[in-house]
Amino acid sequence: MANILKKVTNDIVEALCSSGRVLAIRVWQPAYMYEIDVYIPSINMSSWNTVKRLKCRVELLTYRDYTPANWLPDKNICTLYIEAGHDGPGSRWVKKLKIGDEILFGAAHAMNPPSRSENILCLGDGSALGHFMALSQIVKQKNIQIDTAICLSYKFDIPIASAVHRYSFGCKGEKCCSIISATIDKSSPKPQN
Ligand SMILES: Cc1cc2nc3c(=O)[nH]c(=O)nc-3n(C[C@H](O)[C@H](O)[C@H](O)COP(=O)(O)OP(=O)(O)OC[C@H]3O[C@@H](n4cnc5c(N)ncnc54)[C@H](O)[C@@H]3O)c2cc1C
Repeated sequence: MANILKKVTNDIVEALCSSGRVLAIRVWQPAYMYEIDVYIPSINMSSWNTVKRLKCRVELLTYRDYTPANWLPDKNICTLYIEAGHDGPGSRWVKKLKIGDEILFGAAHAMNPPSRSENILCLGDGSALGHFMALSQIVKQKNIQIDTAICLSYKFDIPIASAVHRYSFGCKGEKCCSIISATIDKSSPKPQN
């Protein structure tokens, strides 16, 4: 009976979810960071001026928040950075994702950028990378400098195609990276497709 109830509840919640499709997956080595391009036709990204989060269904009745780190409003594509260096439903889910898979997610609160035009210092772990990239995209039109340092749990090989390179995030001159740092101001290169 409990299982039937769970299934019915799950179906109702899923019916309320929006959906996206996985277009590309770039795995940082060792395979604990997943960079995922998602096509979401139902969402107008051109009005995104806050740091969004997608409450993704990762298991039956289990949801985890992931942050669109960058987005192309004209193509309805956004990129997620998901750290999977621990054992949890979210990590297990992302490791199994394949190109073409459907992602279900619910609308979740967004975080406003700071209201004052002062420089920003961001410190975090790999799970915050998407948040800091999103923030940099939002404030890039303003004369605000963002200094960022992200401590990663592993020494990662970052794929050449990774969007972090286009955002000036990265370890200059090094192939492997355990700390990502960046100073971003209005002169930084704009994200490209
Ligand atoms: C607003 C918001 C936005 C988020 N955006 C992102 C995002 O863009 N990318 C992203 O990767 N995550 C993001 N997160 C975190 C994400 O929602 C999950 O909490 C995270 O992926 C862990 O989920 P899990 O199911 O794998 O592990 P859980 O079941 O939550 O935890 C399993 C075990 O792993 C440990 N653990 C969990 N996370 C970490 C970690 N980062 N480092 C070390 N140990 C950990 C826990 O303490 C626990 O012992 C965001 C969270 C919030 C609230």
